[in-house]
Amino acid sequence: MVALGARLSAAVGGPTAKALADGLDLQTVGDLLRHYPRRYVERGALTPFSELVVGEYATVVAEVTKATGRKIRPKLYKSDITIRGEDGGTMTLALFNRPWVEKELRTGRRAYFSGKVERFAQRVQLANPDYQLLDDEAGVLAEEFAGVLVPIYPAAAKAPSTTVARSVRHTLGMVDFGADPLPAELRERHGLIGLEQALRGIHTPAEPADVTLSRRRLTWDEAFVLQVVLAQRRATTRALAGTPRAARPGGLLEAFDGALPFTLTAGQVEIGAQLAGELSQPAPMYRLLQGEVGSGKTVVALRAMLQVVDSGGQAALLAPTEVLAQQHARSLRAMLGPLATAGELGAAEVATRVALLTGSQGAAARRTALEQAGNGAAGIVVGTHALLSEGVAFTDLGLVVVDEQHRFGVEQRDALRAKGRTPPHVLVMTATPIPRTIAMTVYGDLEVSTLSELPQGRAPVQTAVVPTGERPAWLETAWTRVREHIAAGRQAFVVCPRIGGDEPEERASDGRRPGVAVLDVHLMLVHGALNSLRVEMLHGRMAPEDKDAVMQRFTRGEIDVLVATTVIEVGVDVPNATVMVVLDADRFGVSQLHQLRGRVGRGSEPALCLLVTDTEQGHPSRVRLDAVASTSDGFVLSRVDLKHRREGDVLGSAQSGTRSSLRMLRLLRDEDLIREARAEAVAVVDEDLLLADHPALRQAVLDLLNEERADFLEKA
Ligand code: ADP
Ligand code: MG
Repeated sequence: MVALGARLSAAVGGPTAKALADGLDLQTVGDLLRHYPRRYVERGALTPFSELVVGEYATVVAEVTKATGRKIRPKLYKSDITIRGEDGGTMTLALFNRPWVEKELRTGRRAYFSGKVERFAQRVQLANPDYQLLDDEAGVLAEEFAGVLVPIYPAAAKAPSTTVARSVRHTLGMVDFGADPLPAELRERHGLIGLEQALRGIHTPAEPADVTLSRRRLTWDEAFVLQVVLAQRRATTRALAGTPRAARPGGLLEAFDGALPFTLTAGQVEIGAQLAGELSQPAPMYRLLQGEVGSGKTVVALRAMLQVVDSGGQAALLAPTEVLAQQHARSLRAMLGPLATAGELGAAEVATRVALLTGSQGAAARRTALEQAGNGAAGIVVGTHALLSEGVAFTDLGLVVVDEQHRFGVEQRDALRAKGRTPPHVLVMTATPIPRTIAMTVYGDLEVSTLSELPQGRAPVQTAVVPTGERPAWLETAWTRVREHIAAGRQAFVVCPRIGGDEPEERASDGRRPGVAVLDVHLMLVHGALNSLRVEMLHGRMAPEDKDAVMQRFTRGEIDVLVATTVIEVGVDVPNATVMVVLDADRFGVSQLHQLRGRVGRGSEPALCLLVTDTEQGHPSRVRLDAVASTSDGFVLSRVDLKHRREGDVLGSAQSGTRSSLRMLRLLRDEDLIREARAEAVAVVDEDLLLADHPALRQAVLDLLNEERADFLEKA
C-alpha cells in the first residue's frame, strides 16, 4: 500500500516516475491520481482526425490500413504506416529505424498513436509517433484498455497517454486513499460520492455516469478546499486587533467634501459610508473595491485616506508602476489643493502633505519623502514597490490602499501591512471588475464592494473595429478621425502591442507576424499621416524621468498624439484625450482593451476608440474585438474574457497556488457550486478554525498552501 502523499517512485518504477515528473510535473501518487483524463474514447471507437490541433501532443485511436517500409539511405530505414480515424480520414506516419513495427502494425489492427501533431505537405501528421497496440493477435483487448471508456490523458513527449494510463491503473491497485477530506455530512447534504470511488470512477469508469459523478465530487474538492483556505484567512484577519480610525468633525475630510467640484455618485456615497463604518472598527478592514473604468474609485479611496489622516494616522497608496505612482501623487495633490500644502504659506489649518516614493527618484527627493513618512508630516504616502523596502517607516500607518491588485501578490501586501504599529486597514482597488462569485474566489480573502455606475455627464465611448484586411482604406480614415479630433482641440492615443527596436522579432507560435511597434509607428506617423501634429512616444524602455516628463506634457496639452504601449492601460487620466487608435488590436485581451478604451471618454466630449485589425471576420480574435465594440459594460466583457482564458490565468498572481490546484473547477461554469462550497467552508471554519476535528481536510489545506508556496518561490 502507498499513501497519496508518497513519491511516485514508490508506486511505479524509477524510470516511469522520472518520465512522469519530467514530462508532466507529477511528483506524488496523489499528483498522478489527480492528473485527470482530458476525455474518453469509447472502446473500439476511433478518433476523428479532423479535431487534431497542430502543435499539440495528441493520442489517437486508429486502425492500420497499410504498412510498408524500405531503406532510404544506408543507415536509415523508413516505415510508412497508414492509419484510418473515425471520420474515414487517413494519415501516413513515418517511423524510422524500427523495421519491426510493420510486423506489429499490420492491416486491421488497432492501436493508440501518440506524437506531436504537425503539418507536413498540407497534411496533418504525428511526428515520430509512439504507439501501443490495443488488442492482441486474436483481436482481444489488452487489459488496460478493457473498460468501456478508455481514458485519454494530457500527455507529454516523454510521458504519452498510454504511459499515464498504465501507471494510473497500476497505482490504483495499491493506493491507500486515507480519510476523506470532505466531511461526511457535507457529502450527504450535496449528494457527493467518496474520494476513493471518485478517483476510481474518473480513471476507470464503467459507464459515462461514473465520470459525471466523479467529476462533480472532484470539482467540489477543489472549490471547498480553496474556500476553506480563504475563510481561514478572513477569520484570521478579522481576529487581529487593529486601530479604529473614526472620522473627525471639522477635519480634512469635511473640508475636502465641501470643496468637491462634483457630486458623488450614489455608489460612491454608499461605498464611502461602508468604508467609513469599517475604518471606525478595531478589526482591520480588508476590502476590495472593484469598479468600472472611470467610475471614480480614486475619490472613494482618497476620502477613506482622509478619514484616517483625520484620526491621526497615515495612509499609503501602492501603485503598480512609476508612471502610475507619479500620476496618483499629482492627481491627489491636485484634488486636495490647499489641503495638501501643510507647512506652506496659505495652507489650510487641517492640511496634510502627499509624499511620493519611487525606486528611481533622486537621493534628495527620496530623503525628503522618507522623512515625511517617518515623522508623520505626510499624511499620505504614494509609491511603487519601493514602499515595501526596509528603509521605509511610518509614524502610524492606518490604511494601505493597493491600486490594481492583480499585479501585487499576497506577500507584498503583507509586507506593507507589517509596517503599521497595529495591522492597518487595507483597501484594494481594481479596475477589472469581475462577477461577484469569481471575485470572491480570486480575491477570496477580501470582502468585495463594486462601483458600477459612471458619473453623470460622461459621454460614452464609441468603439469600432477597423478591418484593414477587408477594408485597407479605412486605416487612412482612422488617421483622418485623429486629425479631426486634434483640430477640435483634443488629444489622441495610438496604442501598439510592441516597443520594437532591438527586441528579437519573435513570431507568435501560430506563425503570425509580430505586432506593430511603437518605434516604427511613431516614425511612420511623424513622416506620414500625422506629420503636422505633435506626436511623441511613451513606452516601458524609456527612463522613468523621461516617461514622467512626456506624461506631464501630454497632461498639459503640449503633445497631440501619444504613441504608446499598454503603459497607459491603467489609471492614466487625461480628460482631454478623446480618441484612441489601437493597432493590431487582436493582440490584446478583452479586459485589456476595455481598460485601454477607458483612457478616453473621461470628460464630457464624445470619444472614439478604433480597434484596427487584419484578422478575418469570424476568426476568434476578431469575434472578441466585435464583443468589445458592442458593449461598454465591463462585467459583460469580463465574462467574455474569462471564457477565453484558462482558469490559472484568471486567478493569476492573486491566488498563485490555486493555479495548479484547479483542474476541474471552472469559475464561470461552477458559480453555484462555488457559492455552496463557500457557505460550507465558512460553517466549518467558524466552528473549527484550525481544523483540529478535520485532519484529512487540514492535510488537503496544507497541500494547497504548499503548492501556493512552491508556486510563489518559483516566480520569485
Ligand atoms: P477610475 O475608477 O477609473 O480609477 P477615477 O477615480 O480615475 O476613475 O475617476 C475618473 C475621473 O472622474 C476623474 O477625473 C475623477 O476626478 C472624475 N470623477 C470621479 N467621481 C466623479 C463624480 N462623482 N462626478 C464627476 N466626475 C467624477
Ligand atoms: Mg483609477
